[in-house]
Amino acid sequence: MSLTDIRSRIAAAEKAAGREPGSVTLIAVSKVQPLERVEAVLGEGHRVFGENYVQEAAGKWPALRDRFGPVTVHMIGPLQTNKAKVAVELFDAIHTLDRPSLAEKLARLADARGACPVLFVQVNTGSEPQKAGILPEDTDKFIADCRGLGLPLTGLMCIPPEGEDSRPHFALLAEMALRNDLTGLSMGMSADFEAAIAHGATHVRVGSAIFGARDYDKG
Ligand SMILES: *Cc1c(COP(=O)(O)O)cnc(C)c1O
Repeated sequence: MSLTDIRSRIAAAEKAAGREPGSVTLIAVSKVQPLERVEAVLGEGHRVFGENYVQEAAGKWPALRDRFGPVTVHMIGPLQTNKAKVAVELFDAIHTLDRPSLAEKLARLADARGACPVLFVQVNTGSEPQKAGILPEDTDKFIADCRGLGLPLTGLMCIPPEGEDSRPHFALLAEMALRNDLTGLSMGMSADFEAAIAHGATHVRVGSAIFGARDYDKG
């Protein structure tokens, strides 16, 4: 699959869902990909990327931004509190606000800087014990607490359980966003981004379908 193919599939899914053309942001997930593949996608004019690891992103994006100009980089992986300061300086958006201690840390950093990345709360829609994210039943309160800290929340993010139909998870996330007046929905990956768009995704996170399979050994 090429970037062009993914873009046209997104456009078709927007149209099929009766949504505005361009209402879905494609985040090209470049974690663990060889630099030349990332450069190729930049060369095709794409400027919105996603990363999972602070250290990897910090080693890659400052130089690429120098060469290619402004690039929006979204943090979509788990964020340790002790890396939050580097993260708010490097990333335009953080999709993995998943616990009170991180919310408090981000609020302090935002106060000190007078600026805050775009924030999504990660919801563990499948209530999986090993997975990060706020449990569905705790999400309304967590959102209220974040707002109480002055954090500017944009939306919700989820990673549905492996091997399950994603659609009920997308529907649940959309319903939680709506009742909390949040407009952003970060959901959908290579295998299910069209279904996510049908359920209202505003941000799809697509990695392997654009770049090819990830080779973690070489990463
Ligand atoms: C790696 C990753 C993606 C991209 O996954 P693909 O299946 O390669 O599209 C999307 N979201 C998150 C949170 C990821 O960690």
